[in-house]
Amino acid sequence: MKKLTITLTLLIISSLNLFAQEDTKVVLITLDGFRWQELFTGADPLLVANNEYVHDTTDLKTRFWSENAEKRRKTLLPFIWNEVSQMGEIHGNRALGSKVNLTNSMWFSYPGYHEILSGFADDERITSNAKMNNPNATILELANNDSRYKGKVIAFASWDVFPFIINEERSGVPVNAGFEIAKGDKLTDKEVFLNQMQPKVPSPWGSVRLDAFTHYYALENMQKEHPRLVYVAYGETDDFAHDGEYDAYLKSAQQTDAMIKELWDFTQNDPFYKDQTLFIITTDHGRGTDPLKSWKDHGSKVKNAGDVWMILFGKGVSGKGEVAQKEQLYTTQIAPTILETLKISYDKENIQGKPLMSNN
Ligand SMILES: [Zn+2]
Repeated sequence: MKKLTITLTLLIISSLNLFAQEDTKVVLITLDGFRWQELFTGADPLLVANNEYVHDTTDLKTRFWSENAEKRRKTLLPFIWNEVSQMGEIHGNRALGSKVNLTNSMWFSYPGYHEILSGFADDERITSNAKMNNPNATILELANNDSRYKGKVIAFASWDVFPFIINEERSGVPVNAGFEIAKGDKLTDKEVFLNQMQPKVPSPWGSVRLDAFTHYYALENMQKEHPRLVYVAYGETDDFAHDGEYDAYLKSAQQTDAMIKELWDFTQNDPFYKDQTLFIITTDHGRGTDPLKSWKDHGSKVKNAGDVWMILFGKGVSGKGEVAQKEQLYTTQIAPTILETLKISYDKENIQGKPLMSNN
């Protein structure tokens, strides 16, 4: 009897281990229209002291400037370049041969997010940023349709088009986006406070809220509900760039780096997520460089606005750091990477990208 008990106990322990190994969580993050140029070289020498795009050039240079590009990028994005570069993979430094591109030909937001979230471009149907429900399923929808993940998938976004990109109606995935507040009958004190504050802090834009709201709604929800697949879509970088505010663009990127660190540090101090969570960060499109003023813009007429980047760290990712060899990756590889990680089956006719596993 004792032997049987021991055997049973061992069986239970080993099946628990097996379960634990398979119990990966994923946090997907996007920074709208953040250029690879700033990711890899920090503040742009042609813009940081340019009166046309900066209110206080002395202040901006004090905050972000150094002659040395490696120092500049560490100043701009300290979490990415001090911590993620040690434990993760950073793709898209074209100066070193690592290329990441979009496969859609539009080079603006909805098609970019569609390709990240659905795993393929649909240039026939996804041709504008209009609030049109996505005809295609996203990985969030595929996960929510899987009994193991049902009700454990959620999205937070600064831009109010995300409920349509994710097709909240059909997918059943809750999307807190734009100027929505937290809903439900067991709100935390912080959610109540965020709900009071958000309408009182004016956003510069009509359809995009400031990212701190998106971020803290997401973090509170992760602490409270422990979702297994979380999508956080920050938006400020794109809007400040369109407005031609290079100072705000840089400050926003630096704050977003700090917010990503906060999400990561939370997961590493929470037993549900600790050592079990894969983080992927990317962007929906690039922006121009030449002519200089095209840094404000993107779209198919802006040269090289389809050049992007991606970052992976956490569960299952080796620490090869900044990729310094020739490679060509595509945004469409993110969806299959997440589906493989979560062991969700999918139609390989639609989603053809090669998953980005650490040993590729
Ligand atoms: Zn965008």
